[in-house]
Amino acid sequence: MSNLILVIDEGTTSTRVMLFDEQGVIHKMAQKEIKQHYPKAGWVEHDAQEIWEKTLACARQVLSEITEREQVICIGITNQRETVVAWDKKTGTPLCPAIVWQDRRTSSFCEKLVAEGHEGEIKKRTGLVLDPYFAGTKMRWMLDNIPEVADAQKRGTLRFGTIDSWLVYKLSGGQHVSDASNASRTMLCALDGLQFDDGLCDLLGVPLSSLPTIVDSAGKLGSAKAEWFGREIPITGISGDQQAAAIGQGCLLPGQTKSTYGTGAFVISTTGNNIPLSNNGLLGTVLLQLAGHRTYALEGSIFVAGSLVQWLRDSLGLIDDSSDTEALAKSVKDNGGVTIVPALSGLGAPHWRPDAQGIINGISFSTGKAEIARAALEAMSYQTNDLAKAFASDGFQWTSLRIDGGMSANNWMAQDLADILGITVERPNSVETTALGAAMLAATGAGIYPSLTEAVNIMGNELKTFTPSMDSQVRNDRIASWERALSQVL
Ligand code: ADP
Repeated sequence: MSNLILVIDEGTTSTRVMLFDEQGVIHKMAQKEIKQHYPKAGWVEHDAQEIWEKTLACARQVLSEITEREQVICIGITNQRETVVAWDKKTGTPLCPAIVWQDRRTSSFCEKLVAEGHEGEIKKRTGLVLDPYFAGTKMRWMLDNIPEVADAQKRGTLRFGTIDSWLVYKLSGGQHVSDASNASRTMLCALDGLQFDDGLCDLLGVPLSSLPTIVDSAGKLGSAKAEWFGREIPITGISGDQQAAAIGQGCLLPGQTKSTYGTGAFVISTTGNNIPLSNNGLLGTVLLQLAGHRTYALEGSIFVAGSLVQWLRDSLGLIDDSSDTEALAKSVKDNGGVTIVPALSGLGAPHWRPDAQGIINGISFSTGKAEIARAALEAMSYQTNDLAKAFASDGFQWTSLRIDGGMSANNWMAQDLADILGITVERPNSVETTALGAAMLAATGAGIYPSLTEAVNIMGNELKTFTPSMDSQVRNDRIASWERALSQVL
């Protein structure tokens, strides 16, 4: 029987744990929902203790379902990025709710930094735009607004971390590390700097002493204590979820591009050893770090993707299940003139307008839920197409696109993406590419494979292809109506 890899995939809406074998096949899986807290408009919080307890429970569940526990030789972690946890190193308990990546509460601090003229320098050094999305300004907010965080800082016991850092801390019983892909989303780490940066920490007002040590994405990165799983298990892979999905999709070579449709949608194009600098609203980011050597990527982040479908389901009650959108979209010949610009929490790349508000354009008495559902799915194609144009302007023309994430299971959407982008869209048979990427890293880090390329070749998935077939006039008309609606929002 093959060795097994335990993968923790801590997403925004749920935490999942899977057991992969060396061929990349999933044998066991456990999942628990994570409660979303919305205490004020624009605020999104998680309970970090809940994240840890549910992660541990899922891991113990999958391990209880196998007889030969010794088969599990390593752990890979992938996680929702940019979400910040503050805890006390003495107690190991969170000092306040975790601030989630979608949270906009630091908008005014970001505007102040822009007004002071720091935008250009931050962009050049970190690859990021000055937006509340990233972790650093969230840490500063906690220091300024949560007395327990400020007190822990005074006592020298404050620990900040993204979710990878928090989980490694809890699993290992005290190691404080973060992998380079997660660290590159804090705004506190230069793309070419191996550790967190003094100057950036000073600028954002985050003490360097509270931050983790930056480590590789694969290797001997830490160890889960025997207390949790009956024996020590090495942690050999760590990656932010979007970077992990790119690895799981086999996008290791410059130009290879994937788009993940989950709560938000995230496009990553690998740029290799070159540090990317976008002039078109995209982000430069670390794809992975191996033996201290970084591979970079250009990224486009769309804030609202599956969450639009969730909104149709949970707030409007138009559908019972997210997947109902596929049958609804198919049930009508077109969108009936309806266009949705889904700026429900501002607009991310390439516009970066945190203040933008969404619209549903072109409704009449003949508009039904099918047209709304269809327009919601179409909005994914338009948003992706806007990113395709931005990538092309930065010199990265897509020749095909690999898709994954919960929403990519929607065949109608996958075909519409191919039609609007005018390129082949490929979807792996298993859409669990995020967890697969973490499994590939962990397998490489544990020495199961001599290189990540080999892990990708052996563990990778077969692809289903969607080929563009839309009439070009229809395509142009649809893009034109999106552009009209978008210009109203902007
Ligand atoms: P995350 O990792 O961000 O928690 P997932 O990758 O699990 O998200 O994807 C879940 C999202 O995908 C939800 O917002 C859900 O509404 C949407 N979704 C799932 N299946 C479908 C489908 N068949 N059609 C449209 N949307 C879907």
